[in-house]
Parts: sequence; structure tokens; C-alpha cells
Amino acid sequence: MPETTPYWWNAIRPPALFMQPVPQRCDVVVVGAGYAGLSAALTLARAGRNVHVFDRMRPGEGASTRNGGIASGALRPSFASLIEKLGVDRARTIYLEAKVAREDLADFITREGIKCDYQLVGRFTGASYQRDFDGLRIDAELHQKHFGINTELVTPGNIQREIGTDRYFGGVVRPDIAGLHPAKLHAGMLALARQAGATVHGETAVTRLQSNGNGFDLRTLRGPIRARHVVVATNGYGDRSNRWLRKRLVPVASRIIATEAITGALMDELIPQRRMLGETRNLYHYFRPSPDGSRILFGGRCPNPRSNPLAGTDSLRRELVQLFPRLSAAGISHSWFGYVAYNRDSLPRLFVHDGVHYAAGFCGSGVVWARWLGLKAALHILGDPQAQSAFHERAPKAVPLYNGNPWFLPMVTGWLRFKDGLAERGSKRI
Ligand SMILES: Cc1cc2nc3c(=O)[nH]c(=O)nc-3n(C[C@H](O)[C@H](O)[C@H](O)COP(=O)(O)OP(=O)(O)OC[C@H]3O[C@@H](n4cnc5c(N)ncnc54)[C@H](O)[C@@H]3O)c2cc1C
Repeated sequence: MPETTPYWWNAIRPPALFMQPVPQRCDVVVVGAGYAGLSAALTLARAGRNVHVFDRMRPGEGASTRNGGIASGALRPSFASLIEKLGVDRARTIYLEAKVAREDLADFITREGIKCDYQLVGRFTGASYQRDFDGLRIDAELHQKHFGINTELVTPGNIQREIGTDRYFGGVVRPDIAGLHPAKLHAGMLALARQAGATVHGETAVTRLQSNGNGFDLRTLRGPIRARHVVVATNGYGDRSNRWLRKRLVPVASRIIATEAITGALMDELIPQRRMLGETRNLYHYFRPSPDGSRILFGGRCPNPRSNPLAGTDSLRRELVQLFPRLSAAGISHSWFGYVAYNRDSLPRLFVHDGVHYAAGFCGSGVVWARWLGLKAALHILGDPQAQSAFHERAPKAVPLYNGNPWFLPMVTGWLRFKDGLAERGSKRI
């Protein structure tokens, strides 16, 4: 049986931090100690604010130590579709911020000396269906024209240079996307926030949040606290304590499996460039070699894992073997899941509601976005002009007929599977 904890925890586990006393008051309470919460806490503590961060689990036990470590700053709506929907100027502003946020993460890691196996290896995206190659080409041309990003087209004839499979109808390589070790990044950020003076309370849920006219009264599992400002950074792990937010963010489970170590020769055959990888189908997979190049980590949508922590592992393994038949005998050492958060328009968000700052809705791409929008939330509290962001918007709209239990997800998954089936039939495999 595979281990159900993340492969990343072999190197470093979320620490137990629950012994610090809760003071009566502080300047800022941050709810959630993932990348977003820690980024906000670090910025505020360095600006001299007295900051207390609360997490209902161990700090990092949410998505920030469970993810694939693909530092893409991807946005779900493609650039072309955003241009169509919002016009070229607004779409350009949004996508330009993705570039800036991605580069800023790399600078941050270097500047702060965080040892998190950051590797600027690029990402290959395979066209799952014949018609998708055109979409990838158009997106590549737009990125070249507007941002000077030299995306390389990979024709079907050249695909073995990038990936040892015959499943794709060509693809593209984005050179500006990196891989990293997510748990090491989180540990680095946690250490920096604490060194800057922020107090981080693990296993301490915030159970109530109320405005008092001049700030906020909060109840936590270890006592009450009063704060001038609050940042909520709970993304896919929001609980019943904030019903208003739960109507706006839909938690979606994502699973990753890790193979046992494979030989270098086999890795050369399957992922010769050691890049991050993805594909265009609706129920897409994201995958990569581990930072030491010894295993393949393969992720995708996961059925409801509440009653079975390994739910969906077998089907994910089958899909891995469909892609790479050479892995049919490879064992699976780890299989774990976590929650990402989607909102109605699938764009990350920074917003202020009733005086509370929120950074949320990273739609499965929070390695770049959570840190970035946590930083922006802190700058906004500090009144810093650099707080400006294309993602500082009104709160996402509530999802109709939804109260925190995403009953409709199996139907959405079924619909996406149906669309993938149709597209598959329309693609001629040679
Ligand atoms: C399997 C998987 C693979 C992924 N792969 C990638 C990838 O390759 N690239 C990428 O960019 N992104 C990826 N993501 C998404 C990325 O991990 C997240 O977007 C990001 O980590 C979100 O960070 P966060 O700080 O907003 O939230 P989280 O790290 O999820 O932290 C939220 C925290 O809030 C706490 N919390 C909730 N309610 C309360 C409360 N009432 N009181 C106190 N604390 C509370 C939770 O305990 C949790 O620790 C992946 C996610 C998953 C699950």
C-alpha cells in the first residue's frame, strides 16, 4: 500500500507549533499558515506590526506542502479567452502580473536564500487532441507578442525530444516555468516569518470573527484575541467558521501519486529534459520528475476522498501507465490528496469584505499566486502604493445553490469526462 502522506514530507514535515500563549490583542491576525498567510505575516512583521498567525492544522498541512511544486502562475482562462471576454488591455494587465509574480517568486527565493530545489527547467504542455495544437500555438504567439516569452512549438514529429509517449499531438515548451520542492519552500517561509517576529500558532482554529467597529474580536481554540486587521488565507481549507466565504469558494480535491525510484535511463526515455509537464484535456494531469530526478509525480482530479484516503489512486495509476506504458511494473510509493479552491470566474482574488482582507481562489496554481496575493494583502494593510494589483477586485459572487458542500462536483467531472471523450473520438491517432 502506498503511504498516504505527501512524498515531500519525507524531506520535511509540517511542524507542531501549539504552545505559544495567545495574547489579548495584536495588530494583525492572519488565519491560515500556508504560503498566502505566511507571505502576509512576513511582510507585516518586517514592517514592525505585531502579527499572530493561526492555523487549525499544523502550519503547512493544507495545500502548501501537498502540491506539485510547479511554479507556473497559470491562469485557468487562456490569454486568448480573456482578451475575448475582457478586452486586450485588461487581459494584458492580468497576464503581465502573472509574469511579474512568477519572476518575483524566483527573486524572493534567491534573495532570502530559501533552499527549496528551485529549478527553472520550463514546462512542456502536450496537446491532448488534434485541435488543441492550434490553441497552444495561438497562445504561444500571444505570449511572444505581448510579453516577449519565447514559447517553443513542438511538432508531433519532434515530441520524443520532450516526452516518451505517443499520446500527444505535439505541444509547447514555456521556458519561464520552474519546479521546486513545495514543503521546503513552505518551511523556508515559516522560518522567515517567525524570525521577523510573527507568532505562528498551529492546531489552533479561529472559530469566530466579529467586527468591533475599530478592529476585530476573534475567538480561537486557545482563547480570544483582538486585532486591528485580519487577513483570511484559508483557500481550499475554509471551514464553517466563515459561512460567507464558503459560499464563494469551491474546494476541489486533487491527488498526486509518486512512483518508486526508477532508473536514470528510464527517466531519460520518459522525461528527457526533466521539465514540468501538463496537458490540454479538460480533466488534465500535471506531472514532473522529483527534484532529484528519481521518481515521477503524477497528479490529477480526485473523487471525494473523505471516506477513503486512497480514493482514485488506482485510476490515476492506470492513466499514468496509459501515458507511459513503460511504467506498468513501477510501484507507487505515495498517494496523497489536498484541496484547491475555485471561484466562479476562475481568477485568483484579493478582496476586502467588511474590513477583512482575503487572498483566495488560486484554482490549483497557488505556488506563485498565494505568495503574491498574501504579499499584496499585507501591502494593502500597510497603505503601500505597491499593493496595487489586477487581482484586487470585488469578492467573488456566491455560487448558486451552494453552501459549502460541493454536491455538484461529480456532475461537473462527468461532463468534463464526456467532453474529453468526444474530443478523443474527433482526434485521429496514427
Ligand atoms: C494536490 C495538489 C497539487 C497542487 N499542485 C500545484 C502546483 O503544482 N502548482 C501550483 O502553483 N499550485 C498547486 N496546487 C495549489 C497550491 O498548493 C495552493 O493554491 C496553495 O498552496 C494555496 O496556499 P494558501 O496559503 O492559500 O492555502 P493553504 O496552503 O491550503 O493553507 C490554508 C490553511 O488555512 C487553514 N485554515 C482553514 N480554516 C481555518 C480556521 N478557521 N482557523 C485557522 N486556520 C484555518 C488550513 O488549516 C490550511 O492550513 C496544488 C494543490 C494541491 C492540493
